[in-house]
Amino acid sequence: MEKVFSKEDIIKDLKAIGVKEGDLLHLKVSMKSVGPLENGVITLLDAILDSVGPEGTIVADAFIPFFQLPLSEEDTKKIPHDKTPSYAGAFANAMIKHPMMHRSKHPIQKFVAIGKQAEELCNNHTPTSGGYDLLDDMIKQKAVNLTIGAGVVGVGTTHVAIDHLGFKRREVNKGINYQSASGEIKLAEVNWNGGCGRGFPKFYPEYREKGGIIKEGKIGMAQSVFTSMAETYIIEINRLKNDPSFFFCDNPACYSCRMTWEHSERNYIKFGYHWLRERKGKMNLSHIKLLFGIK
Ligand SMILES: [Zn+2]
Repeated sequence: MEKVFSKEDIIKDLKAIGVKEGDLLHLKVSMKSVGPLENGVITLLDAILDSVGPEGTIVADAFIPFFQLPLSEEDTKKIPHDKTPSYAGAFANAMIKHPMMHRSKHPIQKFVAIGKQAEELCNNHTPTSGGYDLLDDMIKQKAVNLTIGAGVVGVGTTHVAIDHLGFKRREVNKGINYQSASGEIKLAEVNWNGGCGRGFPKFYPEYREKGGIIKEGKIGMAQSVFTSMAETYIIEINRLKNDPSFFFCDNPACYSCRMTWEHSERNYIKFGYHWLRERKGKMNLSHIKLLFGIK
């Protein structure tokens, strides 16, 4: 019979990988990878909260969808609030439902946090902050990151490194309406980079070699990695300074990596060839518009 993990089992795993009381902990979680839990996602969340204790704080990405500008009439009415569900998965949404949660005041990159520093971190991440500035705050405070599940991309610092080095994507032209602190409805435009994360795993050998990884192990059934955010950030900065395209993935048909960055190759013919091959030549008008950047 398949093992069902209890809260105590998970607490043991968290301790073994290095999670301690008082940690400021960023989480990236694939629930599917963890395996069966006695009380589902709540077992994992409670185990993590118990492990960091009342002096600790946990944070997860809990971003929400945004829309093409100009906003359609329907989209203008979608105003985010602290409890707006995230597309980030079951763990982030369980945190959003927790009675002690705080949510970033950023209209789109709405991190969710629980614990001692949750309110302060979330209140400092405002509509005028950069999308990943909350993670930058965490890096400065010697936070740790736990990525649970081998298929989960990233250790929470790569987007910050990319932002700080000034790499830019072409205008994304997307946003969302939000209600400001004074009650007015305002438009928030996407002004951060985001993009494809499929190249981020390329950093792992360097994290291992240069001390970014505190420990690797299992949380339940999930292969997991526990990292120092300050260390992985420095490793990424040093690598990307010399090799700005290092974070691009290897897929010659990836639109984001091949075409959208200012330092992307942006070879329409080469990209178009691979892109068509991937689609076995099937193409419709929206593909053609995308390929040539027509809105
Ligand atoms: Zn890519």
